[in-house]
Amino acid sequence: MPDTKQAILVVGTGVAGMQAALDLANLGLSVHLVEQDSHLGGQALRLDKVYPTDHCAFCPVWTHAFACREHPRITISTGTKFKGLRQGPEGSLALLEKAARRIDGDKCVFCGRCMEICPQKALLGHAPDLPWDPALPPVPWLDGGRCDSCGKCEPACPTGAIDAARQTNTFEIAVSDCIFAGGFQEPRPAPAPAPEFGGHTHPDILTAMAFETLIAEWNAIPGVKLRCQSDGRPAGSLAFIQCAGARDRRFLPHCSAVCCMHAAKQASWLKRRQPDLDIAVFYTDLRAPGKGQEAYMKMAEELGVRFIRRRPGLVAPVDGPSGKGIALRHEADADVATTLADIVVLNGGLACCPCPEGTAEVSAQACGFCSEPADIANSVIQAGNAAALICGGQTGDGALCAAFQEIGGRS
Ligand SMILES: Cc1cc2nc3c(=O)[nH]c(=O)nc-3n(C[C@H](O)[C@H](O)[C@H](O)COP(=O)(O)OP(=O)(O)OC[C@H]3O[C@@H](n4cnc5c(N)ncnc54)[C@H](O)[C@@H]3O)c2cc1C
Repeated sequence: MPDTKQAILVVGTGVAGMQAALDLANLGLSVHLVEQDSHLGGQALRLDKVYPTDHCAFCPVWTHAFACREHPRITISTGTKFKGLRQGPEGSLALLEKAARRIDGDKCVFCGRCMEICPQKALLGHAPDLPWDPALPPVPWLDGGRCDSCGKCEPACPTGAIDAARQTNTFEIAVSDCIFAGGFQEPRPAPAPAPEFGGHTHPDILTAMAFETLIAEWNAIPGVKLRCQSDGRPAGSLAFIQCAGARDRRFLPHCSAVCCMHAAKQASWLKRRQPDLDIAVFYTDLRAPGKGQEAYMKMAEELGVRFIRRRPGLVAPVDGPSGKGIALRHEADADVATTLADIVVLNGGLACCPCPEGTAEVSAQACGFCSEPADIANSVIQAGNAAALICGGQTGDGALCAAFQEIGGRS
């Protein structure tokens, strides 16, 4: 077992980070769990239902977050970015950067007085990137973009939780070991890595995560059909383009591992709600390796989703006599064919979160999507493995981290 005088640092509170923290804490070790966002849950908190069961994502994530929050051996720091590790004279030191939030989450009682008084409506009850309230744990949020620093909120707060002068704070803590569970990053905005797919250039060409939010149950009004984001007209056809920016030497040579399945998931949700919607999934290879995944694909096909083995060479909006929408141009041998879709979803290009400085030199484990593209089940299994390796005292050789670096470097 590692030196229990110092806490083990777990970075990231997606499903992997939370699982690793709970495993370690349940074995009697002290854990410092840090998250750069304002809330726990990682990317899975943005998902609606999850394949292959179609169960709600929120419930298990909430349960894990609650368990971490209540665990006496887990200390949580949200709004805190892990910047790197270095070897100090007495062991490993982790460099952390605490963002200036300007509202102290421990003092705030959510009375809402600051929100009422704010002329810019810059105070929000929850993080702006989450569709529901509250975040985990609940955090009051000050939108720095809107706040004009008028200072009216400070005296209105009955518990003294607002401190307009608070600055970003960088500090180091001693840690006995580190597990990095930084997850994945979506493709960055323009210039998009695979510009031929038109990502970030038109409201009806969406990333898979944006589409997941658009069609989620919490956004769906019964009987209301899917609409184009550009002009609100009802969408009659939808195309998924798989491996858009993945398995591509210019960007990510590896497969993102989860995209075929979540395309089948999103397509089948929509087919159940709107059977007349024409849905085509353009793929390179369909990958459904896990338990129940092949059957899940079959189910989507039986619902009427068309799986077509072809990758368009060019995707571009059109508005003319031949129609309005997004044109997908396919070239096969000497033939050129064009398909028109109202909405296009780009799937792929999920990059493993890069390894922060020093993690390779100082003992550290990587788990979850950042070590290799993985769905929730596999991310959680990897997290358990990383915790077990630390408990078995097998850290220090950097072997796992080196493998992780290799993947991170390629991305
Ligand atoms: C559109 C879409 C749909 C999906 N649907 C499914 C599905 O139905 N079923 C399924 O099994 N999987 C699905 N997945 C995959 C699933 O989201 C991932 O498997 C899972 O989120 C990986 O969890 P993780 O903990 O490894 O990483 P993440 O969820 O990415 O969490 C990583 C966390 O680390 C934090 N972090 C990163 N760097 C730092 C740092 N330096 N300091 C502090 N914090 C940091 C991040 O803020 C984040 O909160 C889907 C993915 C996408 C894109």
